Amino acid sequence: MPSAPVLLVATLLTAGLLGGCTTHETTEPPASRSATTGTAATSPDSPGSARSGGVSSGPAPSGPVSPGAASSDRRTTRPLAGVRIGIDPGHNGRNYTDPGYLSTQVWNGRTSEDCNTTGTETDDGYPEADFTWAVAGYLAADLRRAGAHVVLTRHSNTGVGPCVDRRAEIINDAHADVAIDIHADGASASARGFAILQPVASGINDAVIGRSHRYARILRDEFAKTGMPVSDYLGSDGLTTRDDLAGLNLTSVPQVLIECGNMRNAQDAALLRAPAFQRRAATRIATAMATFLGRRYPG
Ligand SMILES: [Zn+2]
Repeated sequence: MPSAPVLLVATLLTAGLLGGCTTHETTEPPASRSATTGTAATSPDSPGSARSGGVSSGPAPSGPVSPGAASSDRRTTRPLAGVRIGIDPGHNGRNYTDPGYLSTQVWNGRTSEDCNTTGTETDDGYPEADFTWAVAGYLAADLRRAGAHVVLTRHSNTGVGPCVDRRAEIINDAHADVAIDIHADGASASARGFAILQPVASGINDAVIGRSHRYARILRDEFAKTGMPVSDYLGSDGLTTRDDLAGLNLTSVPQVLIECGNMRNAQDAALLRAPAFQRRAATRIATAMATFLGRRYPG
């Protein structure tokens, strides 16, 4: 087991060589937190339970329905009734405490990749995991309010993992009608904007490529209404394809990954850490999902 300084140097070197969010996937412990949180050995988290990931589907909304209520009224108030939706909030709040676990190799449908990564952060230390968790929370609440059954790939923002292959499995097992991987990127400071990452046929996902690409275009058009510009460095017109991500290669349901902005750009970062933007992001993602599924939203 290398000493902590050796690990720090090694991970900083790794971070320097790599960049971005889903491409970078560093195991660098963010300095803003590592100074105060100690080592994995003293973590209050139980690695065993924290890593297990799992399904957080929450209770199905069960608001009272008067016997005489017309079905059209229920469709208006619960436009996503009967719909199953998967949400994968990228990374996890304490991933940085266990680089050994994160570097475990898992099969992503084409090759091996790291189990998970720490994610990126803004220059002033706001972690990507916090951002993805916040948006996922708003999104899950919106969707449940509209009557959807929501499945999340992690229960909290204070654990480690689960691995990316397990996240895909959770959403597949839920038989989601549509799903999203929520991320933010860590590109160069001058780069701006959001992009949608779409799957490439890789076997398991063969039957959902066309639908995922249609969903990606809908999401691109909706997310542009949040105030975040379309990416000026990633893909074309806010869309790109990726064949190196487990979440996209292993999905059996229509799914895309969104990089909601560049956390290393000051203007994007100001938006990404603002609760008002996070709420708008959730609303636009929910609207895109509903449109993709042929439902009216918010009703
Ligand atoms: Zn990420």
